Amino acid sequence: MLDLLDAGLPAPARGVFTTRQGGVSLPPWDSLNLAVHVDDAHAKVVRNRVLLAEQLGVEGLAFGKQVHGSGVRVVKGLSNKTTRGLDDTDGLVTTTPGVALVMMGADCLPVLLAADGVVGVAHVGRPGLAKGVLPELVRVMREQGAGELTAVLGPGICGRCYEVPASMAGEVEKAAPGSRSTTRQGTTSVDLTAGATAQLARVGVTVVSSVGGCTLEQPDRFFSYRRDGRTGRHAGVVWLP
Ligand SMILES: [Zn+2]
Repeated sequence: MLDLLDAGLPAPARGVFTTRQGGVSLPPWDSLNLAVHVDDAHAKVVRNRVLLAEQLGVEGLAFGKQVHGSGVRVVKGLSNKTTRGLDDTDGLVTTTPGVALVMMGADCLPVLLAADGVVGVAHVGRPGLAKGVLPELVRVMREQGAGELTAVLGPGICGRCYEVPASMAGEVEKAAPGSRSTTRQGTTSVDLTAGATAQLARVGVTVVSSVGGCTLEQPDRFFSYRRDGRTGRHAGVVWLP
C-alpha cells in the first residue's frame, strides 16, 4: 500500500498527497517517484503511476508538463493524456469523474481546489506563485462552473528553510504579498504556504487548509530538490469519483 495523505476535501471531491513511500523506484528516486523527467527508469515510473491509479480506484491519471508557469488546462477525458503530460501546464481542471489530475513537486507546493462538480490542482513554486498560477486556476474553475471553492495545500519547503536572496524575496513579495519570510538563521526566505493562502484569499477563496509537512526536513517522507538535487517527485492528486 502506498502511504498517501488524505486532503479531506468536501464530498464528492477526493484528494490526496503522495509521499515517497510504497513505490518501486531505486535510490535516489526511492521509492514512489512519479516523474519521468528525472532520469529514473521509465518502467519503474510507469509502475508507480499504475500503483497510484489502482489504489485511488480511478480510470486514469492526467499529468501536466510543468514549467513553473501559469498555464492551466481543462482535461475532458484521458484521450489527451501523454506520459510527459500536457505542454506548458502548471494547473489542471476537470469536471469529468474518474480522471485524477496530478501535479508533482519536490519542495514546490501542490495545491488542490474543489467545488461542487469541478476540481483543480496547481504546482506552486516561487515562480508559479509570482506568476499567479493560483488565481488563474481559480478563474478557469469558475469558468467551468465552480461555486464556493475549498483549497488544501500540500507538503512543501517551509518558510524557515527556503532561504533566497533578499532581492528575490522582495520580488516575490511584490507579486504575491504575504510570501516574504525569515529563516531560522534570520535570513530572508519565501513562505510558499503563507503566500499561496494570501493569494487565494484575494480571489475569494477563504476556505483554505494545509496538510503541513516540510519536504526539506522530512527525508524519509518527501522528496526535496533543494536537499538532494537528483531525486524523485511526489504529487498532489484530485478527482471526482
Ligand atoms: Zn522546513
